[in-house]
Amino acid sequence: MHALRMALIVQKYGGTSVGSIDRIKNVASRIKNERDKGHQVIAVISAMGGVTDKLIALAKELSNDPVERELDVLLSSGEQQSIALLTIALNEMGIDAVSTTGRQAGIVTSGSHTRGRIERIEPTLVNQYLEQDRTIVVAGFQGITKDGMIHTLGRGGSDLSAIAVASSVKADLCQILTDVDGVYTADPRVVENARKLPEISYDELLELASVGTKVMQSRSVEFAKKYGVKFEVKSSLNNNPGTIVTEEHEAMESVVIRGVSIERSQARVTITAIPDTPGMSGRILGALAEAEVNIDMIVSNIASDKLARHSFTMHTNDLGRAQSALKPVLDELSADAAIETEAGIAKLSCVGIGMRSHSGVAAQMFEALGKAGINIGMISTSEIKISVTVEEEQIEKATRVVHTAFGLDA
Ligand code: ADP
Ligand code: ASP
Ligand code: MG
Repeated sequence: MHALRMALIVQKYGGTSVGSIDRIKNVASRIKNERDKGHQVIAVISAMGGVTDKLIALAKELSNDPVERELDVLLSSGEQQSIALLTIALNEMGIDAVSTTGRQAGIVTSGSHTRGRIERIEPTLVNQYLEQDRTIVVAGFQGITKDGMIHTLGRGGSDLSAIAVASSVKADLCQILTDVDGVYTADPRVVENARKLPEISYDELLELASVGTKVMQSRSVEFAKKYGVKFEVKSSLNNNPGTIVTEEHEAMESVVIRGVSIERSQARVTITAIPDTPGMSGRILGALAEAEVNIDMIVSNIASDKLARHSFTMHTNDLGRAQSALKPVLDELSADAAIETEAGIAKLSCVGIGMRSHSGVAAQMFEALGKAGINIGMISTSEIKISVTVEEEQIEKATRVVHTAFGLDA
């Protein structure tokens, strides 16, 4: 007879959680706890906090535009350090642990350097170690192409590694352990009385993550939704219950706004006096796409003089590139076409699946901002999200005002 099947747990520890030798020891003892209870553990970990940033800064000292293939070789070394250190700590505690790089864990990627996509996982070695009942420490944020090139998975990419590994080994439990207790109604560093959510749907967390809530990388949530990986976000420093991320269910719709999110360092570009004729928008956006400028919000309208104006937002870092790309296009548009820019803005977004069935949500948000004397720049909406831009100086106040207006305060 088999004994009761022990659980297979995938635990992801982020940069802060492995940010010092003491923190690494803390992680090792948390893993030991699970082992002592009879569970098997695969830990997927990030580089020690700040290491990835430091490596990028070093490369930038040598080149403004480092070759991305080499950036991947460089950045992946951060996780290679931390997996070895954690494994050493585990061994020291008497745990039979072994580390694996992305390649050894069979994480096969495609796409471009610095933003690889996980294509599939070939967990031959991982399965072998599991059969030997060993604890496995997998390097997050990295994989290997079918041609043997190292890829990294975009900033915050260890979340994606963890979700994909959990899916491939059919883990009983996937936990994302971080420096906050779970997913909150707003960044707890900005909104003091933000509330921890007991649960959130994939769609809501995906929207929040894609508009600045960095507690989970958005692509990892997309992956979890696609493959039905239920997971929990919780603290690596205490044992408080965290946030369960799962498929939406009916009761979730009764909450209109689940949370609010901020994106800072945004800039706006407006092009005026565009002739109201076919092809103009395509010409403008084509130039921006060619210059690899990532456009976020787009607003366009036609003035009484029959001339159109288009405004876009983008990260401030892209502003210079956008201006250079658009200058040559202006002359083609019309003699009067001009470009205006504004930096120092930020985007505030409200997200909730309840928006589908409740009306007046946008009005409530705008009224709250108006009453607080905060001017709204651009507005955009999707099925479960409303975003506005405000002066960056006012973003924290705006966030608190909207958080209160939707009854999210603890
Ligand atoms: P890790 O290093 O573990 O991957 P991150 O720094 O990527 O951790 O993400 C955790 C951080 O996300 C928190 O410290 C918190 O400031 C920030 N954060 C932003 N919005 C939220 C939110 N709504 N709920 C929880 N944390 C949030
Ligand atoms: N170390 C990588 C980063 O800083 C990946 C991660 O932490 O998830 O982005
Ligand atoms: Mg992270």
